[in-house]
Amino acid sequence: MLEISEIFGPTIQGEGKKVGTPSVFIRLGKCNMSCSGFNVAYQTPTGETKYSCDSYYSVDHSFKPHWMRFEKYEEILVEVEKLFLDYKPDIVITGGEPLIYWNNEQFQKLLEYFVTHDFNVTIESNGSIPIDFTLPYQKKILFSLSVKLSNSGESLKKRVNIQALTTIIHQASAYLKFVMDKHFINKAQSEIQELLAQLPKVEVYMMPLGETLDELNDNAMSVIQMAIQNNFNYSDRLHIRIWDNKRGV
Ligand code: SF4
Repeated sequence: MLEISEIFGPTIQGEGKKVGTPSVFIRLGKCNMSCSGFNVAYQTPTGETKYSCDSYYSVDHSFKPHWMRFEKYEEILVEVEKLFLDYKPDIVITGGEPLIYWNNEQFQKLLEYFVTHDFNVTIESNGSIPIDFTLPYQKKILFSLSVKLSNSGESLKKRVNIQALTTIIHQASAYLKFVMDKHFINKAQSEIQELLAQLPKVEVYMMPLGETLDELNDNAMSVIQMAIQNNFNYSDRLHIRIWDNKRGV
């Protein structure tokens, strides 16, 4: 069974290498981390205040009753195809942590369907879960790897899996992306350089933290300067700039 917290689009990919690309998003429920360090406050359905990332509703199991459950990948296709216009948008599989489902047969059938029908597929992952590439279509997926740094509040052992990252970078197309505020720049720079020293060559995208346009603008210039100094790419976060992190757009 696949648990999905939302399917939405077509909209634009708001961040990373394919920023601005018309896309339909499939957001899976569950994550192997909670990232309380990101400090996004939210209330559970029972009124408890907790802290996590801005995708807390796909991470915290107390939101499970609101997730959709699909036994067969064809049922997901029906929902996704309702959103198509007269072209093939990119398909973005996000979460939570979608690689939790990598060994699920229906998840693989869904990926195979999209890739073999000429959709560009991106999986957005934290890159900490080891996966095998045994089938040709798996190597045609773009992996957007948002590896967590110490500001996530997760332990190094849990958030960085060099072997898992190396496999993905070698077997498929992949890039790393990092979100940060201006106060974390120096620490982030040393943590990212330490990480890159252990990985095969890979593109890096830097993005400013912020839940609102004002917060984004406050952090953007520091992040741009850090990107330039390190030969990293800068990506804005258009969904926040335009929609202030509103869900489902
Ligand atoms: S790994 Fe990503 S989705 Fe999971 S809790 Fe952390 S930021 Fe949220």
